Amino acid sequence: MSGIHTIETKLLVELQEKDSSIDAMNRKINFFPEEIASINEKFEEKKRAMEESKNLLFQIQVEKKDKEISMAQKEEDIKKHQRELNLVKENNAFKALLTEIERDKEEKDILETEILVLLEKIDKATIEDKKNREEFKKKEEEKSLKIKEIDDLKIKCEAELEIMVKERGELAAKISEDMILKYEHIRDKKGNAIVEAKEESGKYFCGGCNIALVPQRVVDVKKKDFLGVCDNCQRMLYFKKVVFEEILKERK
Ligand SMILES: [Zn+2]
Repeated sequence: MSGIHTIETKLLVELQEKDSSIDAMNRKINFFPEEIASINEKFEEKKRAMEESKNLLFQIQVEKKDKEISMAQKEEDIKKHQRELNLVKENNAFKALLTEIERDKEEKDILETEILVLLEKIDKATIEDKKNREEFKKKEEEKSLKIKEIDDLKIKCEAELEIMVKERGELAAKISEDMILKYEHIRDKKGNAIVEAKEESGKYFCGGCNIALVPQRVVDVKKKDFLGVCDNCQRMLYFKKVVFEEILKERK
């Protein structure tokens, strides 16, 4: 097959343009759920960060509480041992109690220092927690807004698509059934069915597969009522200058 006698080339090119627009619109519409999922995922990340900082703050507070309890216990121990000091008569027992009191005091000092460190940590964790809460709230509002925007756009795109499909139907109705079948068959396989024959310093190439056209094919595509077919990729070939002659002249 080297070509098809037809005067429908221009309509086919327009049909393909319409189909490409419809495909692009479908891709756009199909991408919306992915976009929403990605927004939700980022939001979940923020939520996790907020929960982590909340948990961290809680953990440090619990740790501080434990240390405070231990410290109160140490203070009790010291008081108890000091009372006992008055009751012991034996020198060795007295010495032992004194040692114990010293040890308790040292341990109490250590606990005190640890509590101070924890207080500093609590200050930092509180700031972080507040920051993350605020960011989370902001992100939550942004998320709702973005999703609303996408939903609105989706409705708009679907309405546009409906019009495009209707126009495509009208266009296709002007083309013979045989041609439509050929066109759709090639387009299904190659992505595009009708391509321009390109000219470059006197040589002609297929706009689909880039192969150089044999002289006969060049003669074919230059005919107004003839649609060339590429010997290599089987795509239909047209020459823009020929098919859109009047339009190109008007533009000049
Ligand atoms: Zn080709």
